[in-house]
Amino acid sequence: MSEQTFSARLLAWFKQHGRKDLPWQQNPTAYRVWVSEIMLQQTQVATVIPYFERFMARFPDVATLAAATQDEVLHYWAGLGYYARGRNLHKAAQVICEAHEGGFPKRLDEVVALPGIGRSTAGAILSLALKQHHPILDGNVKRVLARHGAVDGWPGAPAVEKILWQLALARTPKKSTAAYTQAIMDLGATVCRRSKPLCGECPLSADCMALAAALVDQLPTPKPRKKLPLRKGVLLVLKNEVGELLLQRRPPAGIWGGLWCFPERPEGVADEALNEWCRKALGCDLTQVESGAVQRHTFSHYHFEVTPLYAHAEVVESVVMDDDSRLWYNPASIAALGLAAPVRRIIEQIEPE
Ligand code: SF4
Repeated sequence: MSEQTFSARLLAWFKQHGRKDLPWQQNPTAYRVWVSEIMLQQTQVATVIPYFERFMARFPDVATLAAATQDEVLHYWAGLGYYARGRNLHKAAQVICEAHEGGFPKRLDEVVALPGIGRSTAGAILSLALKQHHPILDGNVKRVLARHGAVDGWPGAPAVEKILWQLALARTPKKSTAAYTQAIMDLGATVCRRSKPLCGECPLSADCMALAAALVDQLPTPKPRKKLPLRKGVLLVLKNEVGELLLQRRPPAGIWGGLWCFPERPEGVADEALNEWCRKALGCDLTQVESGAVQRHTFSHYHFEVTPLYAHAEVVESVVMDDDSRLWYNPASIAALGLAAPVRRIIEQIEPE
């Protein structure tokens, strides 16, 4: 099979079955394609569409995004998860305004240098928006290429990834690169699916090596499993006399980085010492302390079990509010804050005063 045959069959399939009416395919500027590609990482198309439309209505161009506060950007991201994506998008918009005078860079090396953009995303933006010739290798494409070429080994392993990049480059045609890029992503999403692929409807089935060797279910090779460790934490849900809740902004790095969260009880502070710690660190005394139901969150490297500890807070010294990292939050307000997932869930469960 020549490489041209692979892409020609894929392009013919795309003409008939590909997705052409997604919001980011209309007026596909580099900015719109970039935002959509970042949102689509680890997130389904159907989930992304309303987020993309709301985001574009509020931040229609790079300059508007760069001028917004990180809080507001994260507010528009809340619910999509993987918040580092939102933070990097915001940072990259500021870099584009400062270093590229607001114009999206056109060279692969310049795009890859922006925060949060890897080689595959950069290739997708430049091929879809600017019609340049670059291969891509996102999760869907890895699956198609690993199956079609019967490439054994976990695609995240550097040696396997190298082979897949070579295949991706060899398959990507010099002409119609944008259509081909969309076509191979669509094939992975709709035909060569993770489970129950529709090989009978696939334009690549005639020479698919995994299909011929009955290896479709085994490829791509899954990531070697590691048991995730369990971390436990206690979040202090402190309510003052007017029903407001104390929130602290998390440090930029680490889980929920930059998002607003309930104060976390430091490890090593025992129950008997909690009030003293709160008085010193948060400026309030606690009464009516009560434990809530445990919530479990799974991150890429560990599980996190969160226990909310509800209490009434009597402010004994006014909490320092001028460091921009703490506030009393009225749950009935619609303040545009980026809230960490457990905080949103806990606030939704709290009865209004
Ligand atoms: S024939 Fe099946 S396994 Fe092979 S590329 Fe097509 S959908 Fe994927």
